[in-house]
Amino acid sequence: MGKSSKDKRDLYYRKAKEEGFRARSAYKLLQLNEEFHFLDDEHNLTKVVDLCAAPGSWSQVLSRKMFAEARDVAPEDKKLVAVDLQPMSPIDNVTTLQADITHPKTLARILDIFGNEKADFVCSDGAPDVTGLHDLDEYVQQQLIMSALQLTTCVLKPRGTFVAKIFRGRDIDMLYSQLGYLFDRVVCAKPRSSRGTSLEAFIVCLGYNPPADWEPHLDVNRSIEEFFSGCAMSRLQIADDAERLPAWTDGQRSIAEFMSCGGLQSFDSDATYHYDDEVLASLSDKASLDPVQSPTNPPYKKALELKRSGKLTRAV
Ligand code: SAM
Repeated sequence: MGKSSKDKRDLYYRKAKEEGFRARSAYKLLQLNEEFHFLDDEHNLTKVVDLCAAPGSWSQVLSRKMFAEARDVAPEDKKLVAVDLQPMSPIDNVTTLQADITHPKTLARILDIFGNEKADFVCSDGAPDVTGLHDLDEYVQQQLIMSALQLTTCVLKPRGTFVAKIFRGRDIDMLYSQLGYLFDRVVCAKPRSSRGTSLEAFIVCLGYNPPADWEPHLDVNRSIEEFFSGCAMSRLQIADDAERLPAWTDGQRSIAEFMSCGGLQSFDSDATYHYDDEVLASLSDKASLDPVQSPTNPPYKKALELKRSGKLTRAV
């Protein structure tokens, strides 16, 4: 598919380029904020962590909200840290760390940048590389969310907010229950810019409020039960045989509030738009636009280098 046909097919892709965002994901965070207002001025965000941040469109949104729009706190008192396994091109006011969120050293580096202060807001748009093996992919995604949650519990202020991408798989209700032990309100939200055909959604966890005698730990070798021990976890029965046992008894089943956000006036990410559509009248330029930021380390980079040096040959 050519660049211009993708511009028409996916209006968020096009809009991101027009508005200077590195990825269309920026609108997912913006639409979540339209509903929950967690980035609005009244929160005076001073310490924020963007986990799994590359190429950086969420960091761009956060930087605009914290530094360009909110002016109550002096810029030198604010810190925005973006972490990803991949290198990221610089973004104004963002400290980027090329690191693994599952590694305890990453937590130490974030706390060091914050001068050991805690964060008001942590988000994670993390997604592991997919293998195509459905069960394995789901498992790895769950582990990544748990790692993001573990790190968050060590770095977030009481009453702080955590937002993370999830895939609404078979065991997702269990995650909602677990989060309910740590936050006052847990909502599953689907922004209009997230394709309706995808299982992707976001958990918005408001009011971090862990039990008083519970100690958070970042240790990927701990099981989920160990992580939540002392957190009234005994109310949840994790099934070791999903066929035979329900994951928890019906009376304890927790179904999170579900909310669609972004408003009906915003583009539908599953629709195809055409240039003669009224909706496209707002586009300033009908020509296709170049990406805002070229990938820093794309998987095809090595192949291009080999091709340029004539070394990409196929054995006959
Ligand atoms: N929010 C980003 C944006 O708006 O530009 C897009 C994030 S992208 C969908 C998912 C990212 O998760 C990838 O860049 C990937 O490198 C990162 N990731 C996956 N596992 C990670 C880990 N263990 N530690 C840090 N980053 C990780």
